[in-house]
Amino acid sequence: MAAKKTKYIFISGGVLSSLGKGIASASLGLLLKQRGLSVTIMKFDPYINVDPGTMNPQQHGEVYVTDDGAECDLDLGHYERFLDVDGTRANSVSTGQVYFEVIQRERQGQYLGKTVQVIPHITDEIKRRMTIYDKMFDIVIIEIGGTVGDIESLPFMESVRQLCMEKGPKSTLNIHLTYVPYIKSAGELKTKPTQHSVKMLMEMGIRPDILLCRTEQAINKESKSKIALFCNVEEDSVIEVLDADTIYEVPMSLAKRNLDQIVLRKFSVSTGKIDLDTWTKFVNRIKQPKYTVNIALVGKYNQVKDSYKSILEAFVHAGAINNAKVDITWIDSESITRTNVASVLKGMQGILVAPGFGSRGIEGKIEVIKHAREQKIPFFGICLGMQCAVIEFARNVAGLKDAHSAEFKKGKDLVIHLMSAQKQVTDKGGTMRLGSYPCTIRKGTIAHAAYGADTISERHRHRYEFNNAYRKSLEDHGMKLSGVSPDTTLVEIIELKNHPWFVGVQFHPEYKSRAVKGHPLFISFVKAALLKK
Ligand code: GLN
Repeated sequence: MAAKKTKYIFISGGVLSSLGKGIASASLGLLLKQRGLSVTIMKFDPYINVDPGTMNPQQHGEVYVTDDGAECDLDLGHYERFLDVDGTRANSVSTGQVYFEVIQRERQGQYLGKTVQVIPHITDEIKRRMTIYDKMFDIVIIEIGGTVGDIESLPFMESVRQLCMEKGPKSTLNIHLTYVPYIKSAGELKTKPTQHSVKMLMEMGIRPDILLCRTEQAINKESKSKIALFCNVEEDSVIEVLDADTIYEVPMSLAKRNLDQIVLRKFSVSTGKIDLDTWTKFVNRIKQPKYTVNIALVGKYNQVKDSYKSILEAFVHAGAINNAKVDITWIDSESITRTNVASVLKGMQGILVAPGFGSRGIEGKIEVIKHAREQKIPFFGICLGMQCAVIEFARNVAGLKDAHSAEFKKGKDLVIHLMSAQKQVTDKGGTMRLGSYPCTIRKGTIAHAAYGADTISERHRHRYEFNNAYRKSLEDHGMKLSGVSPDTTLVEIIELKNHPWFVGVQFHPEYKSRAVKGHPLFISFVKAALLKK
């Protein structure tokens, strides 16, 4: 493959956070990909944690896991879902990682007695990471986390400035995402916050080429000219981004406003026509579903919906493929008891028990699973959800009254115990089994029918596992071990005989669900739920 002349697009945000930089980056990436270019997207996060693996999902949202086992920001999930390209640990960088590396080098004496400083040592390390995919992709999109003006992101912005100088204007582009509020009492859209934000960018030596303006009202010509004039941006490069019904519509609305063409013009690159046919069909299916299906999502991080981002998106994909809107009912596992479980789950056509850590909410999850098993409601258990299903079955079907998990430090029959490899701290920095591993699937199972394959590969993030000492007794009572690691030592998928759809997986299928294509297990689960009256 010939080396590529890589072009860099930096995306920063202004005015306020949560404007959807991740979706904007993923959408632009998709447009350029659909023009035949190879694209990757990276995220640079200003926090000092080395990765979000140790952060509470209530604060930071879901931890996304890549094939190579990096625990990273949930925006990486958007990139993969939109682009249908697997990222690596290099796609997610935090300030913590950068400093960690520079400080380690300093301790090893690699700076030869020099004073180690933000400029150039930290910025050099940031630039090294920003250009790690140089010559490998046509386009590298780099999203800078946080809002312009934050103290934390200054070294990132300085690195962007330096790279723009080094690579020149034909190879670098700055896109700034801002907010243009509508003030009711004045009956006007206000451009001042955008002007201030751009001013701040300019003070850092960065001139935006394109402004993406998030707004609830269409921006009229007059306001556009004003923004262009005050912000020193061409008028056609002031692009409004209106609220969309679904995030998957954003690429289409950006294409309507010629974002991809403007980017290519500025880079002096020509490509074939854009192909958004399949994508458009996918979005139409999301917007005009024929059916509705009620699915309960049982977890304990329900206050922040971003904690289950990939699961929710996997349902959007699988729903679209089944022509259905998946209506999620959030159920807090801590509120479930044996007496209220039936009424809480009334009307549910499918039940998903979510991943999680620690003992809080476990007994509620087990009650939910018992109900799903007995009432033959389609059940999908992911990671902790699968482990709880094993405990429930061991207790209530196999008669192991003390069945428990070592994670919860109770009980005698530890049907879920610590993985042997997790007993030693690994040099990867964590103590979890992380990333993609192959799994062999037994024929004649739901999993085999869904995947249509004998071997699959899925991503993991766990410390505990099915205790093999209980394989035989659980199998004898009607549990099927439908997926195991190729060396047969790890149970990866469980199912039940005499149940229409009961699947527990030790891995996280949600990380591999992609827009348009969906994930085989989610597609099959939604289909089974649609059949449940
Ligand atoms: N806490 C469980 C474990 O470590 C499950 C983890 C998860 O659900 N991601 O194995």
